[in-house]
Amino acid sequence: MKNHFLLVIMLLAINSNVFSQSQRNRCGTYERVSRKLKENPNFLSDRLDMETATQKWISTHAQQRSSSILTIPVVIHVVYRTNAENISDAQVQSQLDVLNADYRRLNVDTSKTPKEFRALAADCQIQFCLATQDPSGKATTGITRKQTSTNNIGSTTKYYSSVNGGEDIWNPNAYMNIWVCNIDGGNTLGFAYLPGTTGTLDDGLVIDYRFFGTIGMNPPYHLGRTVTHEVGHYLNLEHIWGDDNGACTGTDYVADTPNQGAENYGCPKFPITNDPCTPAFPGIMFMNYMDYTDDSCMNMFTKGQKQRMVGALNGPRISLQASKACQIPASVMERVSEVSAIYPNPSNGIFNIELQSSAQGDCLMEVFNLMGKLILQKKVFIFADQIKFDLSDQASGIYFLKVKIKDRMEMHKLIVDHSKN
Ligand SMILES: [Zn+2]
Repeated sequence: MKNHFLLVIMLLAINSNVFSQSQRNRCGTYERVSRKLKENPNFLSDRLDMETATQKWISTHAQQRSSSILTIPVVIHVVYRTNAENISDAQVQSQLDVLNADYRRLNVDTSKTPKEFRALAADCQIQFCLATQDPSGKATTGITRKQTSTNNIGSTTKYYSSVNGGEDIWNPNAYMNIWVCNIDGGNTLGFAYLPGTTGTLDDGLVIDYRFFGTIGMNPPYHLGRTVTHEVGHYLNLEHIWGDDNGACTGTDYVADTPNQGAENYGCPKFPITNDPCTPAFPGIMFMNYMDYTDDSCMNMFTKGQKQRMVGALNGPRISLQASKACQIPASVMERVSEVSAIYPNPSNGIFNIELQSSAQGDCLMEVFNLMGKLILQKKVFIFADQIKFDLSDQASGIYFLKVKIKDRMEMHKLIVDHSKN
């Protein structure tokens, strides 16, 4: 929506509509934000400064087209009390896959975007990697696990405190932290902190384990879109209706999203043309990730929203771009490579590997997943000038190729990306 309105009004006029529906609390972000406002008087001025800087960045970069993809390193803290809450690595990967699809507009349901809005839909050029090194530089799966005795730890402040049974934040300047836990028995799906709390001990997302990933989930919040929405907040997006409780005065600070009265639930039929703020066809954009519709009903960010998010990654969250969190840890890297080329990488699973012509002797090649599990093993003779590895039956993600030649050992990163099929 276009009209500008003071952020302060927006932030203070919240809450009242959050529980007005019998539905689950789709997003707890604004309750948390208003709590922060009460606790920390500097937060509001930080947010206002951020908004000024964001608008300035957008106005100077609006016409700039960039082909570069911004990568956000992610760490997932699974804080669980019961076995069910201790979600699997595969479940974590399934959520990463959703983010990597939705933020590149590679989601399978783009055809559900009404044709009237398709020209506005954006490839946000943002991607996500599970961290491969922890803050001390050691190899990691990008997933931490901690058993806790606290019920509904996500409703407390303990989830981000290891001495209180949670998991401490990893340097928020280098990692996007996501805590997956029981928030409040499944009522609240998740929440996130917008930039402005950047660098604090709870900067990141909290997602209830029932709404994280896509494996074995029940509709309507089963496609990982809770995290897509909350990452939007983390990257400075507001709700599409401007959190003005049905009025048309609030704003999401984005020009190409239609002004909208309040949030939508379920899966409305397009078009909605009885919204008080945008009654004219094609109406409001309820299929935007920043509305509250069902997972199967939301499928787009706009170009204006992309600008805000890219602005955040060039502003308050710029340090993520310098993060080494997704590089191979120095501890597993050794000396100059006997491998001269690996291509394509990322690939859909088929990798060609070439050795230096100077390489001599037998060579053992092994592929491990991030958990250190051996996936594939090949003994090759150096004379084979090109070696093929087929990982196409493996999930998208990062793998390590270990190459042993005589007494030498080296590691390389292989990235399987099935969206390249
Ligand atoms: Zn939200």
